[in-house]
Amino acid sequence: MSLVFSQPPAIRLWAESSRMAGRRIALVPTMGALHAGHLALIEAARRHADLVVVSIFVNPIQFNRRDDFDAYPRDVETDRALCDEAGVDVVYAPSAGAMYPEGFESGVEVTRLTEPLCGAERLGHFRGVTTVVTKLFNAVRPHVAVFGEKDYQQLAVIRRMAADLDFGIEVIGLPTVREPDGLALSSRTRLLSAQGRTAARCVPLALAAAAARLAEGETRAVAIADAAVRRIETESAARLEYAELRDPATLEVVEVVDAPTLLALAVWVDGVRLIDNRMLNPGETNP
Ligand code: AMP
Repeated sequence: MSLVFSQPPAIRLWAESSRMAGRRIALVPTMGALHAGHLALIEAARRHADLVVVSIFVNPIQFNRRDDFDAYPRDVETDRALCDEAGVDVVYAPSAGAMYPEGFESGVEVTRLTEPLCGAERLGHFRGVTTVVTKLFNAVRPHVAVFGEKDYQQLAVIRRMAADLDFGIEVIGLPTVREPDGLALSSRTRLLSAQGRTAARCVPLALAAAAARLAEGETRAVAIADAAVRRIETESAARLEYAELRDPATLEVVEVVDAPTLLALAVWVDGVRLIDNRMLNPGETNP
């Protein structure tokens, strides 16, 4: 059975004594509604540490829309059972009140990397993410923290923050776990209707269409992005928010794909916002 903590000082005490005993701690931050993508992160965490902590917290300050926050799936009982099964040592599930008590007014900000993509669409989102991750890092005192490449920009921002602010925490990124039809696993896909779930296939298909365009010899970023855009447009239940080619390190705009380039997508299906990405590698003939 996983130990459960809900108060920052309590888990901090546990973390300090675990460190004193020479144990390595890995943290997997999540917003719950756990799926196989989270479980892959937990497995990786186990390989890098003696003790695995999974945090489950739907962080209100990273949502820029109240309806999105309210609708976000929550299933704490199942999450705890999954953590037990996965051999997680500690579940850290604080309440919003414990994280943001009356009078809370501090924040952590990463600037340039948070400007494009999801940062441009969801104002304040990344400030909410970096602030909560800082609080989790300070409470759990991990040696290692594991994140998914599915949220590519988030991973880049956290790596930057961990390095810039001398957290001394190794940040590990793991590849996206997908359904057999290519859709990235995500807590939000639980909110899709059956038709929406079918329509959502356009997201991985759009990524594949862009990769195919590159494999055919196209190197202009606009033309490659256009292949993805057109694939989304064939699906009437889907609405594109962005399809952009970016430098994987700086997230700056790329015009010609002559080096590995990130293709990032945000698509609304059925009122649910889905994000996905893939690396486009020039010279890859069979993407
Ligand atoms: P979330 O609970 O959606 O905030 O995600 C918690 C962590 O799981 C983040 O680091 C995500 O990038 C990661 N994650 C979410 N979906 C997947 C997936 N399909 N494959 C791998 N990691 C994922």
